[in-house]
Amino acid sequence: MANTWVLVINCGSSSIKLDVLDPSSGERAKRGGRTLSGKVERVGKPGCRFALGEHAVELDSADHAAALARVLPEFLEGIEVAAVGHRVVHGGARFNRAVRIDEAVETQIDELSKLAPLHNPPNLAGIRAARSLLPSLPHVAVFDTAFHSTLPTRAKEYALPAKLREEHGIRRYGFHGPSHRWVATTAAAHLKSDLRDLRLITCHLGNGASVCAVEYGRSIDTSMGMTPLEGLVMGTRSGDVDPGVLLELLRQGTSVDELDDLLNRQSGLAGLSGVGNDLRDIEARAAEGDEACRLALQVFTHRLRKYIGAYAAVLGGVDAIVFTGGIGENSALIRHRTLQRLEFLGARLDEDKNRDAKLSAEAPVAEIHEAHSRTHLLVVATDEARAIAQDAAHLAKLDDQVERGLSIPIAISARHIHLTDEAVEALFGEGHQLTPRKELSQPGQYACEETLTVVGPKGQLDRVRVLGPTRGKNQVEVARTDEFKLGVDAPVRDSGDTKDSPGVTLIGPKGSLTLESGLICARRHIHMTPADAERFGVKNKDVVEVAIDSEGRDLVFGDVLIRVSDKYHLEMHIDTDEGNAAEITPGMGAAMLPDNETFQDGMLIPTKGTARLRLRSTRFD
Ligand code: AMP
Repeated sequence: MANTWVLVINCGSSSIKLDVLDPSSGERAKRGGRTLSGKVERVGKPGCRFALGEHAVELDSADHAAALARVLPEFLEGIEVAAVGHRVVHGGARFNRAVRIDEAVETQIDELSKLAPLHNPPNLAGIRAARSLLPSLPHVAVFDTAFHSTLPTRAKEYALPAKLREEHGIRRYGFHGPSHRWVATTAAAHLKSDLRDLRLITCHLGNGASVCAVEYGRSIDTSMGMTPLEGLVMGTRSGDVDPGVLLELLRQGTSVDELDDLLNRQSGLAGLSGVGNDLRDIEARAAEGDEACRLALQVFTHRLRKYIGAYAAVLGGVDAIVFTGGIGENSALIRHRTLQRLEFLGARLDEDKNRDAKLSAEAPVAEIHEAHSRTHLLVVATDEARAIAQDAAHLAKLDDQVERGLSIPIAISARHIHLTDEAVEALFGEGHQLTPRKELSQPGQYACEETLTVVGPKGQLDRVRVLGPTRGKNQVEVARTDEFKLGVDAPVRDSGDTKDSPGVTLIGPKGSLTLESGLICARRHIHMTPADAERFGVKNKDVVEVAIDSEGRDLVFGDVLIRVSDKYHLEMHIDTDEGNAAEITPGMGAAMLPDNETFQDGMLIPTKGTARLRLRSTRFD
């Protein structure tokens, strides 16, 4: 199969990273034997240059737009790119998943600059430049914060006055989302478990560092807060500091800019060690007896161990602790020191495995726990570019499917009754014929003028509509709420399968009829023609998943039956309870996601079966 290349752009304040890769395989594009992974350094400053392997281009103080304009055409020459993924650091409360970029999204990213003044402006500069250079491609924003949008309120809020929190968006957002998500997913695959069954602590330890408590696939706490300054000791960032220290420094006359510089660029490993932020240097000096470097290692690992213990408590137990990032993937010493005294969590490090752990493209996961360790200890290679590329490809494909009409309207079926000819006569009088009132979407089906009262042991439902034409069996389809009212527990069944279902009494204008069986709660299903089934890659009786993206009430429906017949018309049928639960409004529909992949919090995860498809809703105009 041909590769689908995605360009990933990561614009920092003074750098631009460019990658071209296939999101499905992770393969990086190459040209002339050179991997298309390049970096512009010193953006906007003298000495600005683009480096692609050994190849370098001088860019004379170019800003983000000028640098991309100079670099991109040559970088992408001969490569057909399907989508562009942009890393955006702050998505605020607005973005809880990746989005296709348009002017409105650009404006919102701009507005969020007040929460991330160092990050969002360069991200946006890159987006604007790339969109004008590659206008025909879909551009997708992938937010660092999105994975943490699931933080519960107790983890999200600072203990500050409500007015401040509400009016200024001051709360914890978390960062490094694509990395935490990526390694959590990779760890679950390695453990041959469903992410939704695992409690993980993921430690992203790079120049920036954060730790995340991932409960059943959702981030429920993370060490970075409103900005990427909170939490762990980082390369040059302090992480947690008593805010009283900052007040004292301000009182002593330190300016805000000086404080910013102090906390963001002069602290962390660099500040503690006095030899810079490269851990390799610090480890080497510490081994030679340098006290400041030893202290740097001690403070770094103590802080991390403290967070791991705290998150084990927050999760109520932990199945695996995962290390990633430049430090997490490479420093056996940091892993060793961090995992001291964590045996009480069932985490037993195998020192040999830890020392020998080496990751590669072929082996992106290494186990470093002892054979009988209750908690798994894993080193996992992160791949943020691939996580971003997957989101971009996924959204681009989804849009493409919607554009090509591969979408499924949703219809909500209210409770209704199918009758035999005999039942019609018993209830409405001899010789009575049903009177069509309204055509239904399935060809030949119609709602009738006739209604009946349905009576159960506890209560009754009035004016339940009869559908035509008559059938060979009587059947009453209700929602769960209706069952409570009737006082009957009806099984979830495919239409027509009424065997051993409970009965009810029907009361019509000319008589009543007590059914022995026939009351069911209809199984949600999608009607389609054989041609539709082929387009969607499913067959009759497949069971799929449908993720509904509605206003504030997203919901995933499992166990959705595919029903294929050339008599059908493409439509998903759910009952009123299901429609209400997902806040489905008239005119909504579902659009198919790529075959055999599921969508979880913005990420595609291959599934085991062949028929587990997820659909995502879209609005029909
Ligand atoms: P990242 O931001 O993920 O690229 O990580 C950068 C950090 O990883 C720097 O502090 C490096 O010193 C550290 N690092 C990279 N390789 C090693 C290594 N072999 N041993 C220790 N630290 C490393």
